[in-house]
Amino acid sequence: MASIYIETFGCQMNEADSRYIADRAAAAGYAVTGNAAEAGVVVLNTCTVRESAERRAYGRMAHFRALKAADPAVKLVVCGCLAEQDRERMQQTAPYLDGVFGTSELMRLGDALEAWRPAFGDDLDLTEERLLVRPLGGQGDCVADAFAHLRAYVNVQRGCSYYCTYCIVPYVRGRFDNRPLADIITEVERALARGVREITLVGQTVNAYKEPATGADFADLLTLVAALPGLDRLTFLTSHPKDFTAKLVRTLGSLPQLQPRFHLPVQCGSDAILRRMNRKYSVAQYREKIALFRERCGDWALTTDLIVAFPGESDDDFGATLELCEEMAFAQAFMFVYSPRRGTPAARWEQIAPDVGNARLRALAATVDRGVRAWHQRKRGRIVRALVQGPSRKDPTKLAAKTADNVTVVAPRGDRAESALIARPWLDVRVDEAHTWGCTGEIVAAAARFDAVAMVTQYRPTIDLIAAR
Ligand code: SAM
Ligand code: SF4
Repeated sequence: MASIYIETFGCQMNEADSRYIADRAAAAGYAVTGNAAEAGVVVLNTCTVRESAERRAYGRMAHFRALKAADPAVKLVVCGCLAEQDRERMQQTAPYLDGVFGTSELMRLGDALEAWRPAFGDDLDLTEERLLVRPLGGQGDCVADAFAHLRAYVNVQRGCSYYCTYCIVPYVRGRFDNRPLADIITEVERALARGVREITLVGQTVNAYKEPATGADFADLLTLVAALPGLDRLTFLTSHPKDFTAKLVRTLGSLPQLQPRFHLPVQCGSDAILRRMNRKYSVAQYREKIALFRERCGDWALTTDLIVAFPGESDDDFGATLELCEEMAFAQAFMFVYSPRRGTPAARWEQIAPDVGNARLRALAATVDRGVRAWHQRKRGRIVRALVQGPSRKDPTKLAAKTADNVTVVAPRGDRAESALIARPWLDVRVDEAHTWGCTGEIVAAAARFDAVAMVTQYRPTIDLIAAR
């Protein structure tokens, strides 16, 4: 049977693009598989935001070449940001590829999949069940995810026009291109109609969204989407501090469908470095906005991105980043050593030695981890409602699930069958232990829907008991 394997690297935009490819493939009659060795088409969706991502993509290309050598009928294609940046190099150095598709050529990739489909036989299986429940690879791997049908990414914009001096995104994905509001709403409605429970609105700078025709902003968009019937959970990625307005804070605090988590990359804690990065805000402005956010959304998880060893970063600049992280106690942070990207301004500036960068990263991780553990500790003894993600990677006798604030909880699955989990994918888990990576506990109940009000009523005695301890 025709099957396709999709391996995804990089950010939420690539995740969203991979889901588009999976949808086009499924509609053309492919089964999406989590096993590259059994696939007729292998798609590598690449990232170029840091050099490490680039190296991994070239490594995976070489790895997949062996599949093609074993069976020349296998189609091997590369798409995403690295394909956009290195198209000519790939065409010259990897002639075995059946296609290289840039960031604006996904439709062409979908067309190619349709055109190749007859070569894999005519055993089309377009049953509703197979179209809805299918595995799709996550970040850099391809673990089958039987619950992927519960979640959908919806693009609200493409590209970015902010030109941070370290960032390759505007060069490989182009400038801002905001979608019309009506198109976004229609796409969300379609997803909800096919059983999706959780929508993630995605864009590189999602809160800079402006409806081209009416000027409606991101807060307006959230309000409209949250009102759609059938939606359990709503979330969004990634926001820029410059566009985090008082109106948006009020909106976050007023929509119960929004998941209590907010990702606001600060990058560093030094004004001098923020200016060199062209970030368009100061540390004081970031602090002010977060103070307002904490007032309205006190129990939300705040997460961030941080870069160390950006050109010109002194020990004092780095010390200011440590101080800010200590103060903010982020619930999670993605931390990176600055990686020079060809064609960006900062790549031409004097670079900091790699050993300094690595030492700073370790020191930063130690500081950030204290905040993360403290966030997880708050859950000990409480019952949290979490959406099943699938079997735990480390121990398949356990289930991994995500809480509303995006913390992983792992609990023994007992005799819960896959079909029962699909019907009642919300687990109420009593958290026993907190770790840096998440929490472990016991499942106390399963539910068909997310219902915060029912949950509080149902578990009130437990929650009160815990509060009284
Ligand atoms: N648009 C988001 C923002 O403005 O914060 C970020 C999108 S970017 C694809 C994701 C993260 O990768 C950034 O927040 C930054 O921390 C990191 N990043 C981007 N370029 C980088 C580089 N050249 N070196 C190291 N980290 C980088
Ligand atoms: Fe890159 Fe800056 Fe745009 Fe974020 S805001 S995508 S870091 S250029």
